[in-house]
Amino acid sequence: MNNKKVFVFGIDCFEPSLVFDEWRKELPNLSSLMEQGAWGKMESTLPPITVPAWTSMMTSKDPGQLGFYGFRNRKSYGYEELYFANGAYVKEKTLWQILSRNRLTSIVLSVPQSYPPKPINGIMAGCFLTPDKSGVWTYPESVAKEIDFAAGGDYIIDVKEFRTDNKDELLKQIYEMTKRRFMVVRDFVKSKEWDFFVFVEMGVDRIHHAFWRYHDKNHRLYEKGHKYEFAIRDYYIYLDNEIGSVLKMLDDDTVVFVVSDHGAQTMVGAICVNEFFRKEEMLKLKTEPQKQQKLKTADIDWKKTLCWGEGGYYSRIFMNVEGREPEGIIPKNEYEKVRDQIKEKLENLGDEKGNPIGTKVYKPEEIYRDVKNIPPDLIVFFGNLNWRSAGSVGGGKIHTFENDTGPDDANHAQYGLFIMKGKGVKA
Ligand SMILES: [Zn+2]
Repeated sequence: MNNKKVFVFGIDCFEPSLVFDEWRKELPNLSSLMEQGAWGKMESTLPPITVPAWTSMMTSKDPGQLGFYGFRNRKSYGYEELYFANGAYVKEKTLWQILSRNRLTSIVLSVPQSYPPKPINGIMAGCFLTPDKSGVWTYPESVAKEIDFAAGGDYIIDVKEFRTDNKDELLKQIYEMTKRRFMVVRDFVKSKEWDFFVFVEMGVDRIHHAFWRYHDKNHRLYEKGHKYEFAIRDYYIYLDNEIGSVLKMLDDDTVVFVVSDHGAQTMVGAICVNEFFRKEEMLKLKTEPQKQQKLKTADIDWKKTLCWGEGGYYSRIFMNVEGREPEGIIPKNEYEKVRDQIKEKLENLGDEKGNPIGTKVYKPEEIYRDVKNIPPDLIVFFGNLNWRSAGSVGGGKIHTFENDTGPDDANHAQYGLFIMKGKGVKA
């Protein structure tokens, strides 16, 4: 192989079935890459979530080795709120750090966990975890102005809020964000020195979560002929065109990758994991909540609580272990037995009619090569991620179709995609 450079299009949540099958004919630039190169589904991390998936891809380490198991992680064995794992928590060497040490130059734009930016031989811009652009969000700091300028004045790191009912405004923001990101990419491809170029576009992830109900005929809220019926398809076509505009600028010595960190699938509803634990008498509250509220704001009777769960696209279960948690009650020598009981109960929990949904429950030490920091005791994919997890208590219902964090139609799927094209890559 004689390739001199590597260019990576990172498309968050790019769904293989849509690119490879459903809309392949309508995506000429991606299909052309596929014809000339190698392509396929790419399995994500467990869990298939933006953090830790991108960092896993860029370090070759699994979440256990990285020591974070999702966006939010446990700081201690206390009962306090979880912390957000931004770039400061990445201790393993990333691809661009290895390249920097070998005097090769990288441009890294908005790859998740690239905030706060760290010094590299090249340029780094913060990802969607950047709180806002008033602080330092690039390395070197001075390149921030150039990025904004190349974006026509204001580079958009992420849309403001994707769980919103204002779909028109959100759609506008998604297009604007993508357009400006590609303006910067084209500018920097041409004007900067680089051996390795990677950027991540968040638009696909945002449009999936916000518009999936209009696209997927199997979604419970699907309405035929809705004005947004083709919103996702049209955006894929637009994105293909933007990708094509960059491909034109790359020479034959550059290996090109298109990759995603996970796919997307329909979301049926949410399982209120803590309401389930209450029903099973594994979690006790001292007073009945008057309305739906966050678990941690409820009056938890820790002395009678075996376990609790967190909300999110998947659920993390934490056990209340004697000598480990402040008011732990599970004796250490019964940990495995109780953990297996919880696992079995969760696996057997069906939909609202009691039909099986194929929930998967994992023990961290069985799926990772190492288990750093504080992992959840169990990692749960309700209905293999067709259902999300809701952490709130109150109301008494285990199954809900209202999202406690705003409208959201899609969940992540275990497989993302890759396409790879370049000299030495067999078609
Ligand atoms: Zn993602």
